[in-house]
Amino acid sequence: MNIEFKKHLLAHNTFGIDSIAEEFAQIQTEDELMEVLQYANKNQTALHVMGGGSNILFVHDMKGIVLLNQLKGMQIAYEDKEVVHVKCMSGEVWHECVLWSVAHHVGGIENLSLIPGTIGAAPIQNIGAYGVELKDVFVELEAIHLHTLEKKIFTNQECAFAYRDSIFKTKEKGNYFILSVTMALSKQPICKTTYGTIQQELNEMQVDAVSIKSVSDAVIRIRRSKLPNPAEIGNAGSFFKNPEITTAHYEQLKNTYEDMPSFDTVNGKKIPAAWLIEKCGWKGYREGDFGVHNKQALVLVNYNHAKGSDILSLSEKIISSVQEKFSIQLEREVNIW
Ligand code: FAD
Ligand code: NAP
Repeated sequence: MNIEFKKHLLAHNTFGIDSIAEEFAQIQTEDELMEVLQYANKNQTALHVMGGGSNILFVHDMKGIVLLNQLKGMQIAYEDKEVVHVKCMSGEVWHECVLWSVAHHVGGIENLSLIPGTIGAAPIQNIGAYGVELKDVFVELEAIHLHTLEKKIFTNQECAFAYRDSIFKTKEKGNYFILSVTMALSKQPICKTTYGTIQQELNEMQVDAVSIKSVSDAVIRIRRSKLPNPAEIGNAGSFFKNPEITTAHYEQLKNTYEDMPSFDTVNGKKIPAAWLIEKCGWKGYREGDFGVHNKQALVLVNYNHAKGSDILSLSEKIISSVQEKFSIQLEREVNIW
């Protein structure tokens, strides 16, 4: 077991915030994990599980032990004429697994290309993009309870997946270390190209026969053109979730804001948070080293040496102004640590 003390986490989060972990352990094997968990439980030390740090905003230094997940490996757990069940260890990079699926002509996750982070974090917020969510291909995951050290399999239903949500953000928040995730990928994939600008991008790429490879390439091209690269400007993707409002509330707002975009949901309407934030005048806002991205108002950014607490305060101001103007409560998507 190799514990580092007073470890700077600057290189381990895409926001580029230099929080300091009291203790830090890189986990490469399950044996190492067990050893650290036993040590932490004996000393009653707090535990924090991290993957790629692409959905975390540090607002202070971290007490206890930060575990950096580096469990690697992939295997085919089941296969028949129609599907392949791929079991991926949780420290694998999500996008590498997408590229593997594309290279092996098994579909289902190509719309989730280029999402940063690890396999193990994907179920936490049920990652989603371009009309696909992890839950659509998810079979099961294996996790270990951080305190009882008991292993448990969670089925799709047991994960209680919802829009950017799962049981690991609610009832079981901070209780488990996810060890592996198994996904069912299709040997006869049906490409989903109707969402956003995928079809337009495919046309520009002059693709005649759409394949999972061309969809993945299109998503990668769109994302590279629209989203700030965390290697250049610190960010954690969308800072807020897209809010859902009742149809009555929507009708009332639509009288005043005729150009307000919306999407039907089971319970009402989803309004793009980026539009609400832009209408409140925040798009491109900058104060010192932090602000709101000038191309995508949903993304808060650290231009250089911003503090996590500055970005959190900015998010509070944005929430207040959207509440005041539209009577809509924005919810943060990013995990505040
Ligand atoms: P981390 O940031 O390290 O952790 C996030 C949370 O998961 C923390 O609460 C952590 O404790 C927990 N966690 C991590 N690993 C484990 C584990 N093994 N066991 C238990 N808990 C764990 N998200 C989307 O859904 N769709 C997108 O399209 C999208 N685009 C993005 C674009 C950019 C440029 C960026 C920076 C982020 C984007 N995100 C998107 C957010 C982010 O990439 C995802 O949420 C991703 O799954 C986070 O992975 P991570 O390994 O970096 O997790
Ligand atoms: P976009 O295409 O400009 O669309 C704006 C918003 O409208 C999206 O957030 C999306 O909601 C919603 N939307 C668009 N078409 C829709 C449809 N046909 N049906 C239902 N809702 C629709 O969005 P973008 O910012 O470029 O992002 C593209 C995709 O990548 C989105 O799915 C987005 O969630 C995802 N993404 C996520 C993050 C993150 O950090 N979570 C970061 C970047 C991109 P949804 O968000 O609900 O899909």
